[in-house]
Amino acid sequence: MSSVAPVIVWHRADLRLHDHPALLAATAKNTTVIPVFILDPALLGPPYSGNNRVQFLYANLHALAERYSAIGSRLVVRFGQPAVQLTLLVQESQAQAVYALRSHEPAGRERDLVVAKALQTTGIALDLFDGDTIIEPGLVRTAGGTGYRVFTPFWRAWSSLAWPHPGPALSYLTAHTLASATIPMPHSTVTLPMAGEQAAIAQMQRFLRDQGRFYSESRDFMAQNATSQLSSYLHLGILGPRQAAAAAAAAANSQWLRQLCWRDFYRHLLWDEPRLATEAFKLAWNSFPWRDHTQNNSTAASDFLAWQTGQTGYPIIDAAMCQLIGTGWMHNRARMLVASFLTKHLLIDWRAGEAWFNQHLLDGDLANNNGGWQWTAGCGVDAAPYFRVFNPLTQGEKFDSDGDYIARYLPELAVLAPEARHQPSMLSRVACNYPQPIIELSQGRERFLAVAKQHLSGAMV
Ligand SMILES: Cc1cc2nc3c(=O)[nH]c(=O)nc-3n(C[C@H](O)[C@H](O)[C@H](O)COP(=O)(O)OP(=O)(O)OC[C@H]3O[C@@H](n4cnc5c(N)ncnc54)[C@H](O)[C@@H]3O)c2cc1C
Repeated sequence: MSSVAPVIVWHRADLRLHDHPALLAATAKNTTVIPVFILDPALLGPPYSGNNRVQFLYANLHALAERYSAIGSRLVVRFGQPAVQLTLLVQESQAQAVYALRSHEPAGRERDLVVAKALQTTGIALDLFDGDTIIEPGLVRTAGGTGYRVFTPFWRAWSSLAWPHPGPALSYLTAHTLASATIPMPHSTVTLPMAGEQAAIAQMQRFLRDQGRFYSESRDFMAQNATSQLSSYLHLGILGPRQAAAAAAAAANSQWLRQLCWRDFYRHLLWDEPRLATEAFKLAWNSFPWRDHTQNNSTAASDFLAWQTGQTGYPIIDAAMCQLIGTGWMHNRARMLVASFLTKHLLIDWRAGEAWFNQHLLDGDLANNNGGWQWTAGCGVDAAPYFRVFNPLTQGEKFDSDGDYIARYLPELAVLAPEARHQPSMLSRVACNYPQPIIELSQGRERFLAVAKQHLSGAMV
């Protein structure tokens, strides 16, 4: 231990040693750095997190602990409320400060205020650094000084700014003597991605070297593994966003960089408008007359259940929902299709779909999930106009033309000829033990358009 008071680095959604401004600032103090993670009960279950994500968190805490051991230190894990646990840790270690990366979620910001206040009573500051986004929220502004509400001009302005270079990974830390609780062992019903920042970086390098070259043309085809599948790593900060952006720039992959910019866009938006965590951006949608799926024995409730369990009778929708339940991940095009089907054909509140995604996705991420649902429903920023209703049949035939995605996640339909998989006949449905459609597409579409038109006419949508 150094004679100078140590600095605590509090990890949250930043389970890495590379591209970590708070960790670098702490080491620059030339003193002992104490890395900490607090297992806050509020993070370990619904509504914040589903089981898949909690298990992935545990697996990555083990990986982070190994990384710290390899460079001479130890990750200190404690259970409880962050304000209480950090105050105790400061007293135990006589730390001079607590450093962390800034959170952009409303709940995270509130938690940080509570922690800062609690630490103040011991004369210690909570110092926050930016590292969860490529460019810090608040820095990409219109000429009028406001935040952007449309992606393309945001992307243009964002691209014209320089972002801080990702910092190097640490290779050595001084040992400390603080005790740690045991990290639970992960037990998941889905196959978890390999844990740890080294696995994430290797996957990114493989993606950029191999599939990355075909990303623009292939990314919408659901059966192809043509996207990076790095979202779960980015969500928990196992992969640093600036590290990813720098790699995309080095590979001259501007389409992939643009997708990373969407992630920044939704974080900037949530930073400016925390109300979006629970409300539609377009206010008229907050009183939209959705069907009430919470009423037991209603047809809306049974429609919602059919959607959740992949039993709608529309193979592309059901395959996507089975991918979600079976793997904890879903292809982006499929996310758009199932979100459109729920909100439009079934007229069920986007927030119910958002919550179901959040329970099952390994990458369930407030900013991206909320942004994606609002975009698809038509109530968000830069959203598709409400009257654009995806047709699951034509979309499926276009982006899964051989029905391979359907066959993979609905094996009962794999026996059908590829061209029959999108619209099995009534008889083949019976033979394959696959349900009849729960709604006729044109009927669902017309119902939605009529309700939306009536509700939104005259309103500022
Ligand atoms: C209804 C709906 C819900 C969604 N929920 C989530 C969610 O909970 N968590 C999540 O990370 N993404 C979500 N997305 C965005 C997108 O579907 C995923 O980020 C993407 O499919 C992840 O796969 P990938 O890592 O292979 O992406 P790639 O195509 O390789 O893109 C690289 C990274 O860019 C970011 N990104 C890509 N597309 C988007 C996008 N449209 N919006 C914001 N960021 C993007 C992600 O961090 C992604 O990992 C949602 C989209 C929709 C339409």
